[in-house]
Amino acid sequence: MFLISNSKMLKKAQREGYAVPAFNVHNLETVQVVVETAAKMESPVILAGTPGTFTYAGLEYMVSICKEAAIVNKLPLALHLDHHEDIKDIRHKVETGIRSVMIDGSHFPFEKNISTVAEVVRLCQRFDASVEAELGRLGGQEDDLIVDSKDSFYTDPLAAKEFIERTGIDSLAVAIGSAHGLYHGEPHLDFSRLAEIHRHVEIPLVLHGASGIPEEMIHKSISLGICKVNVATDLKIAFADAVKAYFAEYPDANDPRKYITPGKIAMQKVVENKINICGSAGRV
Ligand code: 13P
Repeated sequence: MFLISNSKMLKKAQREGYAVPAFNVHNLETVQVVVETAAKMESPVILAGTPGTFTYAGLEYMVSICKEAAIVNKLPLALHLDHHEDIKDIRHKVETGIRSVMIDGSHFPFEKNISTVAEVVRLCQRFDASVEAELGRLGGQEDDLIVDSKDSFYTDPLAAKEFIERTGIDSLAVAIGSAHGLYHGEPHLDFSRLAEIHRHVEIPLVLHGASGIPEEMIHKSISLGICKVNVATDLKIAFADAVKAYFAEYPDANDPRKYITPGKIAMQKVVENKINICGSAGRV
């Protein structure tokens, strides 16, 4: 069992009308929760790590932990580079065994985004690694990436078509109103824009910032071409709240095996719920 690209997973999801959840993981415990839950539910799953995660946990540790998790749980896994921007860093990570890449050039002007992404596609093709890129720009905060709402903008459907033709990417992250982190009030997704993108584009589409988006909106997004749903914040909140509650009850606790366990249990419930919402259970 080894780490795979997400391309077959997303094509199957596209054919069968569900989405593969991509959960951000940070360490051994969060990998265990996601993979054990996905294996139990027979769901395909993507483990996502931002540049900050790999710096924190160590690239080699993350690759080894995820490979081992795939073997132990008999589940092929895509360990995915979430919001990576540096081509040298991507090359190094792909050479170390990663086969699922997001190159985020969404902060660049259109032509520079295309040339950057096309270079990463050429690199990744040599390793049979899949490439996701973003057109338009999500607001909010994902780890060290902070985008003020005034700097965010939505994906243009015709530009998306050209972007895909000229880069050769496997999947496209769309900006349709979702945002990284917490929403202030009800999120508003531009479904007519998503439908228009879906009409012009054949490859699987990706929804970032899915924490806090109501279930019906996720279902509607999937019916309009979303095949990968990214979740980070909802998991972090569940984990942290459970650990805080544990310390509130046992202020003198100091054994990580004890105070981390409630965090894992709380996170597991969120993972189960997101797998059910994505409709990916039983699809391995
Ligand atoms: P949330 O933190 O809003 O769930 O977003 C996750 C994400 O899109 C990772 O790329």
